[in-house]
Amino acid sequence: MKKLTDKIALVTGGSRGIGAAIVKRLAAEGAKVVFTYAYSPEKASAVVAEVEAAGGLAVALKASSTVPAEVTGAVAKTIADFGHIDILINNAGIYIGKAFEEHTLEDYNEIMAVNVQAVFVAALAAVKGMPEGGRIITIGSNMGDNAVGPETTLYTMSKSALQGFTRGLARDLGARKITVNLIQPGPINTDMNPADAPLADFLRTRMALPDYGTVEDIASFVSFIASEEARYITGSFLTIDGGLNA
Ligand code: NDP
Repeated sequence: MKKLTDKIALVTGGSRGIGAAIVKRLAAEGAKVVFTYAYSPEKASAVVAEVEAAGGLAVALKASSTVPAEVTGAVAKTIADFGHIDILINNAGIYIGKAFEEHTLEDYNEIMAVNVQAVFVAALAAVKGMPEGGRIITIGSNMGDNAVGPETTLYTMSKSALQGFTRGLARDLGARKITVNLIQPGPINTDMNPADAPLADFLRTRMALPDYGTVEDIASFVSFIASEEARYITGSFLTIDGGLNA
């Protein structure tokens, strides 16, 4: 028996990287998965095709997380087409790394819009009709606990904010038996953080398991948290970083 049969999931940023792996994994577990993307229609179509070839159902929606109305629109479209959302995965995220003095207010607004504001906006829209047993799972970062190095201030700040969001919302939604959890990846080989990036060897020296993780290392745990087996886990953070923060 698949773990997520007939569950309705919405994943933000599902065209590439960790989000695409989550879409495929949830669909393989039987969920009907809607996902958003901003700039990569071809990659989004490829994810849909791969899910369909495996016998699953995935739908791609163009909706930028920088625009609250587009996030709300993606939630509304999912509910209109499928009735409700059981599982919201806040995955879309961006990284802006530079010397602190070089940052601009535009950098701040952009990173906070995608990494924080969109998480709040999506959850607010999705919880209204979310049934008992619902799941809100957000992809933070191990850097929410550990800035690791210089030139990470804005990103670290945005990911730390998700910890407060998760704690508070878990308490708001517990009476409805909806769980709220934060997954904090460490170095995962994606376009955002390639395993051959200039900083990658430095990161490996700080890890207990000195290698990058795969997108499946994150997607597998997300599918567990989304399942009934994880019903008693809420308000929790799981760091999956090869021991970088150990
Ligand atoms: P990628 O850059 O590889 O992929 C990002 C995904 O988010 C893409 O699907 C992209 O869509 C989407 N996205 C980006 N901006 C927007 C936007 N404005 N609106 C909608 N979708 C958007 O990133 P990762 O897969 O590596 O990261 C996924 C999450 O994991 C992020 O929250 C990131 O912060 C977090 N993370 C990643 C780590 C890593 O080492 N890779 C480590 C710790 C955390 P499109 O293709 O259309 O641009």
